[in-house]
Amino acid sequence: MTAVRVVVVGGGIAGLAAAWEATRRGADVVVLDAGRPGGKLQTTPFAGVALDEAADAFLARVPGAVELCRELGLEDELTSPAIGSALVWHDGVARRLPEGLVLGVPTDLDALAHSGLLSADGLRAVAADLDRAPDDPERDHTDDESVGALVRRRVGDEVFERLVDPLLSGVNAGDADELSLQCGAAQLAAAARTDASLVRALRTTLRAATASATPVFLTPLTGTGRLVERLVESIGADRVHGSTPATALRRAGTGYEVDTPKGPQRADRVVLAAPAAVGAGLLAAEAPATAAVLADLRYASVAIAALAYRVADVAVPLDASGLLVPRSAGLLVTACSFASSKWAHQGGDGVVRLRVSVGRSDDTRCTRLTDDELLDAVRADLVTLLGITARPTDARVHRWDASLPQYRPGHLARVESAEAALAAALPGVALAGAALRGLGIPACIVSGRTAAGRLLDGGDRTA
Ligand SMILES: Cc1cc2nc3c(=O)[nH]c(=O)nc-3n(C[C@H](O)[C@H](O)[C@H](O)COP(=O)(O)OP(=O)(O)OC[C@H]3O[C@@H](n4cnc5c(N)ncnc54)[C@H](O)[C@@H]3O)c2cc1C
Repeated sequence: MTAVRVVVVGGGIAGLAAAWEATRRGADVVVLDAGRPGGKLQTTPFAGVALDEAADAFLARVPGAVELCRELGLEDELTSPAIGSALVWHDGVARRLPEGLVLGVPTDLDALAHSGLLSADGLRAVAADLDRAPDDPERDHTDDESVGALVRRRVGDEVFERLVDPLLSGVNAGDADELSLQCGAAQLAAAARTDASLVRALRTTLRAATASATPVFLTPLTGTGRLVERLVESIGADRVHGSTPATALRRAGTGYEVDTPKGPQRADRVVLAAPAAVGAGLLAAEAPATAAVLADLRYASVAIAALAYRVADVAVPLDASGLLVPRSAGLLVTACSFASSKWAHQGGDGVVRLRVSVGRSDDTRCTRLTDDELLDAVRADLVTLLGITARPTDARVHRWDASLPQYRPGHLARVESAEAALAAALPGVALAGAALRGLGIPACIVSGRTAAGRLLDGGDRTA
């Protein structure tokens, strides 16, 4: 029997996970990527270590990434952050985030009061949340809404603006007043449904989480690029084609053909794991309803500036994993990861390494600056934030234009309708990737494997 031929468009982590799943199921797999396989998982040498250009770790307590690492024999190469606590910029000072936060929502009111982050009114709003009876009608508010709508209503504006929004913006470079609760903060959505008091519900969430022996974050010691390397080896390096964009998708006999500048690829099944705009273009003619949903998804552009300093040139103790900068600060920098403090394997050698994030959905300045201008602006912000005036010994900029999807309320319902329309219009073609159900590495892995599994289980079509 001839193997089912699966063409995966997009060799980011979602596409590679789809290809790996299809390979395990005995399919004949080809991955087409417009650029470098790995997408946002790229690790390159910087100031003497392997440094990630974008994603630098994954959540270990949600399904997806740890299992994949285990299958690929990477489990022994994983490491967790050396330091757990982080700082947030507030009123001109870098303050430590209090213990007991769940996606920025406090559960420990004493720690919150000691953090100095909230006013007396702000603290009262959090305490008032605990006065709601568990079955107050507030609990029945189950439609998708924005994270901001829920958090502001339950625990007040200050918690939202000073904790939740900076934290979530640090993840998706967006505005949590416009972020889908169900897709962008599923933990909060689940807690909100169980108890009208968000603080009380999240205390239960946190108790369950802290009972776990698994660290919150993990990463391969040589960077997230190692995951890509092992995936490509396991799928077969000759099956993963970089610099090979898919330019068109059409029906051909009982299957499909995917055009590339190097010639067409025949397929029985196709996984579309490229960014939404690419999927929208490929599907516009044959699956317009799906294409419309994909075309409607907005992305934020960000850049990461990596900077290295001699340890003697940095006077402040960088005893945290990093610093979050809320939009109210009006700075270009949105977050600064203290890479050499956060990861034991990236420090301890007399070099301070920082990964500085810039750019938000509502701040596109970084896209208009040259690399030199961007580095100058970042250095000016670092004087304000950390008092670092020295010149870095190494510096580089990585641009991630249109890289972070902005899920608006109702996103998951739109994705479901897009998938149903695609299954009806083009059976044997499925979507995967950050455009669907979350942008984190685990969610992308799950989306890729689910898409391949569904296509090969025959749910959508048989060869
Ligand atoms: C700066 C930054 C930091 C991040 N940090 C973290 C983190 O620490 N932890 C975490 O879990 N997540 C993080 N993320 C999010 C996460 O990295 C991404 O959401 C995830 O890697 C996306 O995977 P993907 O496969 O869906 O898409 P991508 O990685 O975007 O891959 C899509 C691929 O499609 C290819 N492509 C484009 N057009 C075509 C075409 N026409 N034909 C074929 N291929 C095409 C691209 O070249 C690309 O390789 C970060 C993201 C960014 C931008």
